[in-house]
Amino acid sequence: MKTTNPVYTGLPTTIFEVMSRLANEHGAINLGQGFPDVDGPEDVKRFAAEEIVGAPNQYPPMMGVTELRKAVAASNARFYGLEVDWQTEILVTSGATEALSDCFNALLEPGDEVVVLEPLYDCYLPLIRRAGAIPKLVRLTPPEWKLPGEALAAAFGPKTKAILLNNPMNPAGKVFTREELQVVADLVLRHDALAICDEVYEHILFDGRKHVPLMTLDGMRERTLRIGSAGKTFSLTGWKVGYVTAPKTLLDPITKAHQFTTFTTPPGLQRAVAYGLGKDDGYYRSLAGDLQAKRDRFGGGLARLGFGVAPCAGTYFITADVGPLGLEAKDDVELCRLITVEAGVTAVPVSAFYEGDAPGTFIRFCFSKRDAVLDGALDRLARWVDRRGRAGA
Ligand code: PMP
Ligand code: GLN
Repeated sequence: MKTTNPVYTGLPTTIFEVMSRLANEHGAINLGQGFPDVDGPEDVKRFAAEEIVGAPNQYPPMMGVTELRKAVAASNARFYGLEVDWQTEILVTSGATEALSDCFNALLEPGDEVVVLEPLYDCYLPLIRRAGAIPKLVRLTPPEWKLPGEALAAAFGPKTKAILLNNPMNPAGKVFTREELQVVADLVLRHDALAICDEVYEHILFDGRKHVPLMTLDGMRERTLRIGSAGKTFSLTGWKVGYVTAPKTLLDPITKAHQFTTFTTPPGLQRAVAYGLGKDDGYYRSLAGDLQAKRDRFGGGLARLGFGVAPCAGTYFITADVGPLGLEAKDDVELCRLITVEAGVTAVPVSAFYEGDAPGTFIRFCFSKRDAVLDGALDRLARWVDRRGRAGA
């Protein structure tokens, strides 16, 4: 038999799916895979339902329906002062994942290097490698997740085609400061590279922070691609509606990759997302405000139980160090299994977001859940920590 492609052959099932299955098997509260347990706005869902029943469901325009491309362009202007041409600089995709895949396939050539920051979202490396390019990894470590300037500079070289920047960053909950963004922009400009920005959590920032797209920094407009996801902005992760904003010269080849990957995305969902993006400031404020309260509720609870809780400035993930609890376990994967089976709460090991060994014993919890669910998880963890403490005493 001929061999199958080595990038995907032997690749494990994603950690999110693995942990969700384990949670189901053990009846655990699933704070592993990142998804809200309450769907997004009722009016957005109704809008979609009416579109699906009342309007044609045939192939929409390949780049996306007019309403959504206009709405994404309007959001760029409204939130970030970015003027973009909706006809040539916006592409609608089936989720941010497709957008990432299209960008890599269209922009990378075999042998190109892509600077990628760890911890990283799990689809990045296989997609980059399948496009024939070579990831150059730069490690951020908990709990500060500071950008290591020297290591970052060292990762750039003559073969660097692009940097991939996830801001706000999953799983770190990190929001890059303007100074850090400037460091990235300076390197990109110095090496005449591109910046592929995964900004799916652009509307989930806390404590008064405002999202700053790398694209808005001086000189970056013509070399940056910005990716968003309705799944995150409207708590509708199953819809898989994403969008890319990019200068026309870069978007043109990306559109060709999209043309032969999915070609289009369901038109009714696209129109509903267009409607949603037009929501007033109150919607966006409460999306971030409600999640900030959940961060405090759950993070505070974890800290009281003795977990070392890392700061979380954005996204709906919080990472916690289990080290201080003094548990015996081989690694964070084993710990997550243990907590699922013994405590009945599921998290995701942070090592899943690193290519090599994880720095420490951190695990990631998703707090985009009803308060009662978060409280229930904290109760279970409290009982478990107590049982463990007594067993060890
Ligand atoms: N990037 C990051 C950092 C994510 O957390 C996610 C969430 N799944 C995605 C991309 C993919 O988004 P989508 O579901 O729109 O494909
Ligand atoms: N982005 C989600 C997370 O980080 C998971 C998406 C998925 O399961 N593919 O948990």
